[in-house]
Amino acid sequence: MPILHLRGVLLPDEVERDAWLLGDRLTFVRPSGEAETICQSGFVLPGLVDAHCHIGLSPSGHVTDVEGLAEQARRDRDAGALLLRDAGSPVDNTSVQRDPDLPRLVRAGRHIARPHRYIRHLGVEVEPDQLADEVACQAMRGDGWVKIAADWIDRTVGDLAPVWPRWALEQAVARAHELGARVAVHVFGEDALPDLIAAGVDSIEHGTGLTDDMLDAVAARGIAVVPTLINIDTFPAIAAQGEAKFPTYAAHMRALHETSRERIRAVWEAGIPVYVGSDAGGSLPHGLVRNEIASLVAAGLPAAEVIARASWLAREWLGRPGLVEGAEADLLVFDADPREDVGVLRYPRRIVLRGRVVA
Ligand SMILES: [Zn+2]
Repeated sequence: MPILHLRGVLLPDEVERDAWLLGDRLTFVRPSGEAETICQSGFVLPGLVDAHCHIGLSPSGHVTDVEGLAEQARRDRDAGALLLRDAGSPVDNTSVQRDPDLPRLVRAGRHIARPHRYIRHLGVEVEPDQLADEVACQAMRGDGWVKIAADWIDRTVGDLAPVWPRWALEQAVARAHELGARVAVHVFGEDALPDLIAAGVDSIEHGTGLTDDMLDAVAARGIAVVPTLINIDTFPAIAAQGEAKFPTYAAHMRALHETSRERIRAVWEAGIPVYVGSDAGGSLPHGLVRNEIASLVAAGLPAAEVIARASWLAREWLGRPGLVEGAEADLLVFDADPREDVGVLRYPRRIVLRGRVVA
């Protein structure tokens, strides 16, 4: 078994030390045998986490072949994302989990949606009285997460509107939690949020409708927010498409975009955990985790804490260790500290996945 050695300042501990990569594991105990040194200095942090992406979706449609799925995951990996949370995919993307060259993948099964209330052919479509059973089904298929589309345009109203009654959400969340799964919800507008928060969902995806009066309850329940700002920047284009038929909806989408930065700052200031998700696969290509980090920092979130949320804190949230003895050797090495300047993330000196240098 080849042994790799590195020396650098390990984050978040900020201690300069030697570490060895033995097989796919990290150790601080010098192993016997020759080791090849891959770096002598620099800043070392656990691989980035793209906490919201879709392997199997692309701007041009569904990708179903193994090589196409691998190509998407490889783009994410080469941007430094070594752990992905798939927030729902209509295709079987488990081939990615069997390929050691590709990032680790935590899957949420298929999106659960209601007929006519989500993107066509994307989710499993059920009515409210079937929601809890479908959650149980997708919980079995995923890796500890399920994904529910919880608001969408209601064409009879001409605006965003909640998709599910509160009782259905309460049943569904309770069923997921009984099965040990967590619930992520797609939500753009304001109106669906109070019932989602009361039902105790685990993560709010996009969350552009989060107003100040909701934040105490979100924080108290430990609900995370994954804002996907780079996807929210597509709202004006969505509004323009809907303008002629649904002017109220279009105005609402534009307003959500315009307030998105001040609202995410308020979410952050309320102490709610925010994670970094690119939403790759829908209207955006894969490999953009660094763009989302830059957008969060540009929105006014502190760079050092965004890096923590994008790396070791997101890993902890997903049940994965950081740079500790015996951990998975999934790490990035940079010449400078990315917490000082997130632009540094563009220039990794090493990307190490499962103990092997991949870039
Ligand atoms: Zn998404």
